[in-house]
Amino acid sequence: MRHSRAMAIPHMAYVDGRWVDQPRKFAVRDPFDRALIAEVADASDELVDAAVEAAARAFPAWRAVPGPGRGKLLGELGRRMLADERRLAELCTRENGKTTAEAIAEVRYAASFLTWFAGEAERIYGETIPASHPGQRITVVREPVGPCALITPWNFPYAMLTRKLGAALAAGCTVVAKPAEQTPLGALALAELCDEVGVPAGVVNIVPSSEGVRTGPRLIAAPQIRKVSFTGSTAVGRGILRACADDLKRVSLELGGNAPFVVFADADLDAAVRGAMVAKFRNAGQSCVGANRFIVEQPIAERFTAALVAQVAALRTGRGSEPGVDLGPVIDDAAVAKIARLVDDAIARGARLLHGAPPDGTSRVVAPIVLAGVTPEMAVWREEIFGPVVTLRTARDEADAIAQANDTDAGLVAYVYTRDGARQIRVADALEVGMIGLNEGLVSTAQAPFGGVKHSGLGREGSRHGLDDYTNLKYTAARS
Ligand code: NAD
Repeated sequence: MRHSRAMAIPHMAYVDGRWVDQPRKFAVRDPFDRALIAEVADASDELVDAAVEAAARAFPAWRAVPGPGRGKLLGELGRRMLADERRLAELCTRENGKTTAEAIAEVRYAASFLTWFAGEAERIYGETIPASHPGQRITVVREPVGPCALITPWNFPYAMLTRKLGAALAAGCTVVAKPAEQTPLGALALAELCDEVGVPAGVVNIVPSSEGVRTGPRLIAAPQIRKVSFTGSTAVGRGILRACADDLKRVSLELGGNAPFVVFADADLDAAVRGAMVAKFRNAGQSCVGANRFIVEQPIAERFTAALVAQVAALRTGRGSEPGVDLGPVIDDAAVAKIARLVDDAIARGARLLHGAPPDGTSRVVAPIVLAGVTPEMAVWREEIFGPVVTLRTARDEADAIAQANDTDAGLVAYVYTRDGARQIRVADALEVGMIGLNEGLVSTAQAPFGGVKHSGLGREGSRHGLDDYTNLKYTAARS
């Protein structure tokens, strides 16, 4: 079936350059009021297989397109995203709940990966290596790994996809993407743009599904898929790594975080509070790089806490599309229930509620909460909150702050506020994470390698390193 943009909300799967409907549909609802946005085609196993076949068929011709040609299409796709940013942002606010300002920021962030990898497509350099035998030459080229499965979460429906898709297409790989069941519309809107700019049939395939637990494993298990790139929870990521073991597929995993936000007594207090607000409340706290644990050196703890609470008290909650709203709803009832469980547990174990109240479950809009006197045994300290909850502990000194920051299985990002240059180096060296915000509350950018250590994942996305996971090195030893 051909597709027309008159259809304001995309609702079919996109396979082999065609829009494909399915007898089974699933409802996509506005997280704010549960209003129906669209009934989306629910990909059958057969459609997933067809998408994999299409990606495999399209691969030889796509890899043969010279890098600059692939880059040109990616650049055009990025420009189309920006030209359409209002409509794309509105769709994002509707299916995800985030505010209009955040949705626009996300569209721009998502487009920046396409622009970035459009440039990188021209720079997939190989190398020549001096050989140890006379008359021998060693050359190395980078080849695309093959058709890739891209599995994405609901919290950044565009950016989590373009961060993978940009790198994959630049490298010469074809893709089958499975967006999260809560937010398939952004991926389908992106497919419309791929169609418009002339991405060849089968290079990008999108299979929306109501059951990630069924469709995800089916896609990953397909023998033609040579690499899986997943962003989501650590539990699912572990299963994916296991599932890829038998066929030795390449795997990259961007998983959950439990970010410490460390404020030393010598910090610029205003800058630390500003950074804390961004690192904590972006996307209503539903970000893998969200600050989860605030660790504040004792001498500054009272002043930092008072300044933070004052800022938190000024946050306005509501429907994401309403002007002036800072925090939209969280994604679903399970998210509300998780936040309530974590906050109730903390209070029962002696944490002090400095602002807000535990959610009572009547609304998806969770008003911000600040908890002090949190201890390491509390679930709110150990688990990724994924909501607008600040948890505060104090640290005696630098060594105590570092020990607390590293006391987690996660290792995605850490934020550190200090003006002491020697301490900046010591602490950055000591933190067990993939990324550090040093006097900076926002680390996400297309130019930098995004990713974690420990249970936060494998591989890096964005930056020139983002291509590594989509390419294999092939070396030739030639004798004259
Ligand atoms: P999730 O793991 O529940 O789902 C992510 C995706 O995996 C969805 O598309 C889902 O349908 C699919 N899926 C579910 N079960 C599957 C299975 N058995 N096999 C294959 N795919 C399956 O995560 P979520 O709740 O959508 O997202 C929130 C999580 O994502 C948080 O933990 C967050 O920290 C993490 N996240 C990490 C990053 C990062 O870059 N590190 C970025 C955003 C989100």
